[in-house]
Amino acid sequence: MWFSLFIVALAALVALHFWWRAKFRSQHSEQTTELDNFQRRQQETSVEAKAQQQVIFNSMLEGLLLLDRQRKIYLSNRAFNSFFNLPNELRGKTIVEALRLHELDDLLGRVESEQQVFGYEFKLPGFSERWLQVNAAVITNSAGEREGTILVFHDLTRLKQLERQREEFVANVSHELRTPLSLIKGYVETLLDGARDNPEVAERFLKIIERNTDRLDFLIQDLLTISALESGRMKLDLQPVNLPGLVEKVFAHLHTKAENKNVQLVNELSETTIQADANRLDQVLTNLLDNAIKYGRASGQVVVGANRLTTGKLELFVRDDGPGIPAEALERVFERFYRVDKARSREQGGTGLGLAIVKHIVQAHGGEVWAKSDLGKGTTFFFTLPTVE
Ligand code: ADP
Repeated sequence: MWFSLFIVALAALVALHFWWRAKFRSQHSEQTTELDNFQRRQQETSVEAKAQQQVIFNSMLEGLLLLDRQRKIYLSNRAFNSFFNLPNELRGKTIVEALRLHELDDLLGRVESEQQVFGYEFKLPGFSERWLQVNAAVITNSAGEREGTILVFHDLTRLKQLERQREEFVANVSHELRTPLSLIKGYVETLLDGARDNPEVAERFLKIIERNTDRLDFLIQDLLTISALESGRMKLDLQPVNLPGLVEKVFAHLHTKAENKNVQLVNELSETTIQADANRLDQVLTNLLDNAIKYGRASGQVVVGANRLTTGKLELFVRDDGPGIPAEALERVFERFYRVDKARSREQGGTGLGLAIVKHIVQAHGGEVWAKSDLGKGTTFFFTLPTVE
């Protein structure tokens, strides 16, 4: 009897044991699956977050570089790689290995000792001029230990170019103003020193003074026009303009100049109306025709004509039969103060701004301007303008 009871109790214990194990296993496997899912979800989220981070970093205009504690590249974005023309995968390399730029490696030393460096500017070696500015800082953990370094690169090239242009412009303007001013001062002093007692000499000197004050006046007028055009302050007053009529008006204005050099002015334009600002267009034609007379041949011919383009625009031209412009200067003549022959331009009272003004006005009308030349045979300036149907 006791034995049978013992057997039944033992069987019950064994059954209880197996039931409990089975239950524990299923609970454990449920828990494990949950844990697996949780870890997978976390991994997925972190992969997703990393991908998102990469997308954000790659869409930045600034170059971004993250270095680890050993100064090895941990992450670089697209802008950084393209600044330095580097392949996409740079992970694990040092700055010197990846860029061969010891200057940046030295900068890293500075960042590590000073914690951060702002506004460090440097020029990239190579043919085309490229300037970058770096802001860099050490990344520390909660214990204050250095974990790595972050460097952000800004492209300064455009800013540097503008800065240089501005400096050149100021230097050129000062030079252009100083030349007539010192001439005026010199002749005034000579007159005061006694030259005024000789009427012939006095007359000659006063004429030189007058010519140079005119030059100053032209220069200031041109500077004001350029400044208004470049700042966008000058608004165009677009109206239908009768082109051959306007050209005749400009011819009349330049008549004496042309006659003095025995230059024949020819208007080949047929009846055409265009949509333009008449005063500004007058300025364009005056500058081009004035140049054609000034730099053209004595007893030569200057022609104004037009071709209608398939685009609906009108291509106007001013052609002379003078000595021409060398090929390498054909684009540069539109730059402010660029002259092929400086002495000749100054002697003719040129400001060096005429063609820069022409370019601005034509572009403001939605057109283009360019020049073609055959050395020894002549130059033709072309520009396009919209027509009125
Ligand atoms: P400038 O006041 O010196 O005439 P522009 O801007 O009008 O200034 O012209 C720039 C330079 O282009 C001139 O100095 C001259 O060397 C050259 N140039 C312009 N037009 C002609 C032309 N028709 N033939 C030859 N050279 C020209």
